[in-house]
Amino acid sequence: MQLTPQMRLTTQRQIILEELGKVTSHPTANEVYDMVRKRLPRIGLGTVYRNLELMSETGIILKLEVGGTQKRFDATIDPHYHIRCLSCGKVDDIEIPVMEDINKTAAAVSQYQVLGHHIEFSGLCNECSNMEEEQMVN
Ligand SMILES: [Zn+2]
Ligand SMILES: [Zn+2]
Repeated sequence: MQLTPQMRLTTQRQIILEELGKVTSHPTANEVYDMVRKRLPRIGLGTVYRNLELMSETGIILKLEVGGTQKRFDATIDPHYHIRCLSCGKVDDIEIPVMEDINKTAAAVSQYQVLGHHIEFSGLCNECSNMEEEQMVN
């Protein structure tokens, strides 16, 4: 069977999606590239980046709206909250119910039809807070 460019693209996207779905670390494009490269050795960083952008535009994956310099991606597209470690920049999911009421509260005090909200928690991850404790002891 001959692979058409269109099919190749689909395969690439499929593999990117599979690899992204295996982790809960909300990887950057570079990190996704490292994972995907093990299965598609000839893929380029630019291709991975373009596919991630395209997939987030079409809603297949989530591009995270969190602080930090690098964009991060998430295969979990259901609304959920994130926490970012202020020390190492690691991002995890926060498993609490999404607050639907907050949209109504915001709509009540603004001239907007509120369609959504983003909450980013920040703190120190387990490893970083352990490291701080060790430094205090020494
Ligand atoms: Zn940390
Ligand atoms: Zn997430």
